[in-house]
Amino acid sequence: MAPALSLAPGDALGILGSGQLGRMLAMAAAQLGLRSVVYAPESGPACDVAARTIIAPYEDDAALAELAACVRVVTYEFENVPAHTAEFLAARLPVRPGPAALATTQDRAVEKRFLNGQGIPTAPFLEVDDAAGLAKALSALGRPAILKTRRFGYDGKGQIMIREGMDVAQSWAALGGVPCILEGLVPFTREVSVVGARGLDGSFAAYDVCENAHENHILALTTVPASMAPDTAAQAVAMAARIAGALDYVGVISVEMFHVVDGAGERLVVNEIAPRVHNSGHWTLDGAVTSQFDQHVRAVCGWPLGSTRRHGRVEMRNLIGHDADGWAALLAEPGACLHLYGKHEARAGRKMGHVTRIFPE
Ligand code: AMP
Repeated sequence: MAPALSLAPGDALGILGSGQLGRMLAMAAAQLGLRSVVYAPESGPACDVAARTIIAPYEDDAALAELAACVRVVTYEFENVPAHTAEFLAARLPVRPGPAALATTQDRAVEKRFLNGQGIPTAPFLEVDDAAGLAKALSALGRPAILKTRRFGYDGKGQIMIREGMDVAQSWAALGGVPCILEGLVPFTREVSVVGARGLDGSFAAYDVCENAHENHILALTTVPASMAPDTAAQAVAMAARIAGALDYVGVISVEMFHVVDGAGERLVVNEIAPRVHNSGHWTLDGAVTSQFDQHVRAVCGWPLGSTRRHGRVEMRNLIGHDADGWAALLAEPGACLHLYGKHEARAGRKMGHVTRIFPE
């Protein structure tokens, strides 16, 4: 492992992935006087704003060596960076967040065992490796329950809800027969997330808890602050800090949680950790002193974290598919802050941009 180091303005930062998160990271890096080199198998929105682009497969050692030679630290916009890629780079220069964060968050079973080991509640779950195992897990957890692939799930992909009467073998086949977990249903009131950052010196700074509403399994609306008791919000942030500390994490981390409100009071159940900037943190571009992208760049460069103070009550709405066709009206709306990702084709379900609105508290 290469030694810890701090960058200086003028240095170059490597970003794995060429999507909108990479784009907003590269823009934040540029604002802080850094140059970004985007590395991805295909061109994307980040390439338009990077100083340099390397288009090559993640398994191409010669291209990875070229990246390692021209940047001082590497980060990434997505959690499915292949282990080989992370290890190859980490042997040559700092990769932040480190490979341990990737290994823990790429596999739902490993992630949930890690969380439970930290005393953090998750949905009840069982590992399932075949149809017979699914039948056993369903008897233990009951129906309905959610079958999720251990790896490569996002935006509701790689999961199905198994209800009363559904056939076990068919349900197993529906996800392709890959290793899965079966999760018991959490009777949540709302979904929330904590977006926070851990610096190279171990400092931790979180934004206020975000409340997230999904449509068709895709984030539609984030409002901040989330409706919850101040004690519960403090617990949510403490959980994120504990997770980041246990992973010896550097960078922005996002922790998705279920907020359960019932006769027993309020509690939090962690659903998922994203070792990266997160869609539910996009509001920080306009609604906080330091955006999540600036914060991530600061952290991975070994710089002090910035203030996470909000400018008001904030709403961030995603522009999915043809929603983005309304760009002219959004530009004309006083107070609406429009962000478009420069994607050429508005396919259904594709995140094209977002709009933020800030209101007095
Ligand atoms: P995930 O891919 O794990 O983030 O799940 C996608 C969405 O499915 C979540 O945002 C929830 O709305 C729902 N969901 C996932 N797991 C559970 C669960 N154990 N109980 C209730 N709802 C869930």
